[in-house]
Amino acid sequence: MGKSIQMKKNEVTILGAGLIGSLMAIYLKRQGLDVSIYDKRPDKRKTPYSEAGRSINMALSHRGWKSLEQVGLKEKVEPLAIPMYGRKVHDEHGGTKFIPYGKAYQAIYSISRGKFNQLLAEEAERLGAVINFEHKCLNFDFRNQEIKFETPEGEKEFVAPVVIGADGAYSTLRMAMQKQIRFNYKQEYISHGYKELTIPATASGEFAMDPNALHIWPRGKFMLIALPNPDKSFTCTLFLPFEGSKVCFEKIQDEHDLEIVFTNYFDDAYKLMPDLKTEFFKNPTSALINVECYPWVQDQSLLIGDASHAMVPFYGQGMNCGFEDCSILNGLIDKLGTNSWGLVFEKFQKKRKPDTDAICQLAMENFVEMRDSVADPKFLLRKRIEAKLHELYPNDWIPLYTMVTFTDISYAEAYAQGKIQDAVMNKVMADPLITENWNKLDYEDIINKMETAKAV
Ligand SMILES: Cc1cc2nc3c(=O)[nH]c(=O)nc-3n(C[C@H](O)[C@H](O)[C@H](O)COP(=O)(O)OP(=O)(O)OC[C@H]3O[C@@H](n4cnc5c(N)ncnc54)[C@H](O)[C@@H]3O)c2cc1C
Repeated sequence: MGKSIQMKKNEVTILGAGLIGSLMAIYLKRQGLDVSIYDKRPDKRKTPYSEAGRSINMALSHRGWKSLEQVGLKEKVEPLAIPMYGRKVHDEHGGTKFIPYGKAYQAIYSISRGKFNQLLAEEAERLGAVINFEHKCLNFDFRNQEIKFETPEGEKEFVAPVVIGADGAYSTLRMAMQKQIRFNYKQEYISHGYKELTIPATASGEFAMDPNALHIWPRGKFMLIALPNPDKSFTCTLFLPFEGSKVCFEKIQDEHDLEIVFTNYFDDAYKLMPDLKTEFFKNPTSALINVECYPWVQDQSLLIGDASHAMVPFYGQGMNCGFEDCSILNGLIDKLGTNSWGLVFEKFQKKRKPDTDAICQLAMENFVEMRDSVADPKFLLRKRIEAKLHELYPNDWIPLYTMVTFTDISYAEAYAQGKIQDAVMNKVMADPLITENWNKLDYEDIINKMETAKAV
């Protein structure tokens, strides 16, 4: 194919029709802008394809809902979402304990990635965005603003004055930025990987467990979790170290090894997983990556979503955070207009980077809480004391999980406040008689200690 350099003058080019690229397109169409999206995947409506290795369902929480509400999609998404009001912790003997996420009405929502993505992409199209499937971005040349794609018809190239890279954790736009000077980039694969498995509906077509909870089997260095689906099945995710531990992916070589691990550690779940042996050896084992980089802007190009801040999934915030990126960027466009994209993008990255650093860090830290601490009775007591503090002093003490999941307090502020509260709670919990005395605690004194620590 010959090179034909076309100029897409007033158009915003979005790379990636994933969750974030599609929502960004919706915001921009509502601003009255011309938007073209390019995705390497085929159009699912024409060519079904496997999404093996991607999470099947995910937790949608306040920040995500807020963005959906802004673009008028809350009502359309609600029927796809199942509320989960807390964690249901399964011990090794089949016993369970329910730990609410917040107040009785507060929930995070399980939603299928595929259906949700489809809804957002179709909404973007309905508003007039053009989605070009099977367009794999190969490179972006910042000097000439030329973008190059591989398509079934051969390579295509055009000049794209404004580009938003929402092309995920392995972003091509970010890779092009890495070749520019003074671009900082850090990636880390954690020692654990994950594999998705299923608990199907029962023979009578019902959920096999409570559908309004996120189920966790915390086992110290590893864990299993399960989220409900509208077809009454649960998608389970098994998080194990890749290698080097007594229980790790490397040591599960055959059905016998698998059975030993599941009967020893997840027996109640095992009994509900008739297809475990087939699924385990068929489904991929996927890696978990944390990506931090800066700047996110090069001239009139910007990275958003996982392309700029891919995080491990243990706070359930990657998508929610990406949606909040879209909302904040839209707010800046409202304020500054679109005559100077460079300025809008610059303001965006300055505002947002401390927040995404904070949530990436929190996501790493929450892994220990999920796989280990939730099984500790002291952890439950700590949660109870914090809930009481929040009840008595709703504006002064907001548990960290609540700040992150049920408010839009900036992630950086939540992180800083969370560290202060954590230090105060460590002292409270250090009392050897706390289990007996917790009901007699001087809650006002705890608040005063927190305020003093904050002032320092
Ligand atoms: C196991 C797991 C569980 C998770 N659970 C949650 C959760 O409960 N809650 C939550 O909020 N988040 C969760 N996340 C995080 C969430 O999945 C991501 O944050 C979210 O998908 C990011 O969306 P994105 O659009 O930025 O990237 P992606 O979803 O990766 O989409 C990127 C798009 O870009 C396209 N693309 C990539 N490269 C190119 C290219 N070169 N050219 C053209 N197109 C390209 C891809 O085809 C894709 O469509 C989880 C992640 C994992 C791994």
